[in-house]
Parts: sequence; structure tokens; C-alpha cells
Amino acid sequence: MEYTFPVTRTANPKPRPADETQLGFGKLFTDHMFLMNYTEGQGWHDGRIVPYGPISLDPSAMVFHYAQELFEGMKAYRTPDGTVQLFRPDKNIERMNNTCDRLCVPRIAPEVALQAICQLVDIDRDWIPHSKGTSLYIRPFIIATDPMLGVHPSKTYIFCVILSPVGSYYAAGINPVRIMVEREYVRCVKGGTGLAKAGGNYAASLIGQKKAEESGFAQVLWLDGIHRKYIDEVGAMNVFFVIDGVVITPDLTDGNILPGVTRRSCLEILKKWGLPVEERKLAIDEVLQAQQEGRLNEAFGTGTAAVISPIGELYDCGRSYIVNNNEIGPIAQRLYDAIYGLQTGVLEDDMGWTYKIG
Ligand SMILES: *Cc1c(COP(=O)(O)O)cnc(C)c1O
Repeated sequence: MEYTFPVTRTANPKPRPADETQLGFGKLFTDHMFLMNYTEGQGWHDGRIVPYGPISLDPSAMVFHYAQELFEGMKAYRTPDGTVQLFRPDKNIERMNNTCDRLCVPRIAPEVALQAICQLVDIDRDWIPHSKGTSLYIRPFIIATDPMLGVHPSKTYIFCVILSPVGSYYAAGINPVRIMVEREYVRCVKGGTGLAKAGGNYAASLIGQKKAEESGFAQVLWLDGIHRKYIDEVGAMNVFFVIDGVVITPDLTDGNILPGVTRRSCLEILKKWGLPVEERKLAIDEVLQAQQEGRLNEAFGTGTAAVISPIGELYDCGRSYIVNNNEIGPIAQRLYDAIYGLQTGVLEDDMGWTYKIG
């Protein structure tokens, strides 16, 4: 790929983290970031790579008041032969533009967004950690910058990409998590922004997460906002259940499920393996009843951060429902090995999902 964005290199490179076991998630950032401006009438312009640092905005900038903000999340991985690769970046960029449509933000040409990400990762490639399970998290985001308080779509925006070396999610092994079914709050409703990767969705979900943590649970299982019956997502991950050997995940038709790249990849791999898969509405009662009858084989969340996060326990209305003896199930394990293997270049990419940088 030919890179064309102008680069201003930092005069003060930061020391790289010496101990990769202490990276955690999203705590450290690399030396550079990508910026691009949008001005109505002019379009997206002045893409550039500059030293990582604060962005100065007018206090009246719209993003601070009406949350016209969206983001993406993806990773760059170091492969055994030393190359650096992305996993299905076209899917993230397509989703970013779909989120733009929902939030009245102007789209970015996919090739421009991809070039921005690739050139930035290439410049900061020495920041990609080496230990097993680590990666470079990529956070593209767009904010509305018009300095005015009238409620309407902004006429100016900033597109920014920052990079963060992140640690192994499963340094201590893949341990199933305890999940609380959330009956009070909802993450989104049909017709809302559930399908968009918008910061506002996260702001609305914090209270459920806080409540769950205070009660000793890792995450909440969200139910739909209208019937309070159908399963939505688990925390900020898509969710899968295996009942009687059939893999079931909520379908995207109502627009209240975030179309995860990991979700999609799981579905495509499961179909390739010839396992029975259903995308449909799934009531919480169906899941809990299946557990009571010994037919709930597995439950797990999917997302870029963890790939697969097995659910060991569901807690609802004072009752605890243990899943698969609180162990990771065979389908979750097999999916994890397949997707993680592709992402990190340990397995040969027979799906055409990886994208090499540099
Ligand atoms: C990002 C996200 C996911 C997971 O999507 P991936 O592309 O698999 O990382 C799921 N749910 C929500 C709410 C998200 O924001």
C-alpha cells in the first residue's frame, strides 16, 4: 500500500512498556495519532499523522452536549513470521459508516479510513507487544465540533485514530464469568441506536454494569426494551447460546443488536463446520428453562477485546443457573482457537479475513 498522509513525527518518543504482563486494556497510548477534519461544503480534508496529544475544542463543541460521537474497535496482531496484520478491517469500516448514517455524521471513504489506520499502525508498529495474547488495540472515533448549542447535526467533525498496546485478556486462562440478567434498565430499544457503535449507548449502560459489579457479577445480560423478554447482548458483547446442540444468537432484524465482527465471524465459521446455527429472537425464559431441563449446553459472549467470553453462571430473580458446570464449552473453545488462530497468523487464513500492513 502506498501511504500519502503527511506525518509530523514526535520529538519525544515515549518509553515502550517493559513489562507486557502489566499492559491491561486501553491505559497506554502510542507516540502518534491520526487526525482528519470535516467541513461542510469541503468534505473530509487534511488527513495527517501527528504526535499523540490533547485535542483543543471549544467548550460549546456539540459533542460535549449532544453526544454526536461514534467509534470503532479493532486490533493489529503480530504474526509468528513478524508481519503485522488486521482482522477484517473492511467490516469495521463498513460498520463505522453505517453508524455515521444513524448519527447524521458524514461517511468517510472506506479506502481513506483504511489507509489512515494502516499508515498509523505502520508508523507505531514497534509498539505492538510481542507476548502471547497481546495486541495493538485500534480506536477510530468521530466527534462533532461545531461550537454551538442549537440541536442539529454538526457541520464540522474530527476523525481521530489512536492506538493502545493491550495485554492478554486471558493471561490467567479462559475463566467463565458470572452474569446478572438485567430486568430494570435496558441498553436500547427497537428504532434506537442499538445497532450503532455510539458512545451514548455506553453512557446509558454504565448504571447496569455498576449495579452488576456491586452485586459481584462481571456483566449484565440485557433484555429487549419493549417486551423485556428477548435477549439482546451481554455487557458490550454479542451473545450466543447452545441449546440441544443448536447454536443460537439474536438476529439483527430489529436493529437493536450491534453487528459484531466477531459475531459474524463465529456464524460464518460455524456454518463452514456444518454445525446447526440459528439467528432468531431468543427469550430469556427459553434459555433458563433449557438450563433447568439440562439442555443448555453453552453460553458465551463475543467481541474484539476477548474474542470469546464463556458464561459460567446466569443469575436472575434471586436464582442462579450454572452453565456447563462453570467451564468453557467445546464450541466456545473451538471458536476461540479458530478465530484467535486466524487473527494472530498461527492458522493459515483460508477465509481471506486477514490484511497485512507494510
Ligand atoms: C463493539 C461491540 C460489540 C462487539 O463487536 P466486535 O466487532 O465483535 O468487536 C458488541 N456489542 C457492542 C454494544 C459493541 O459496542
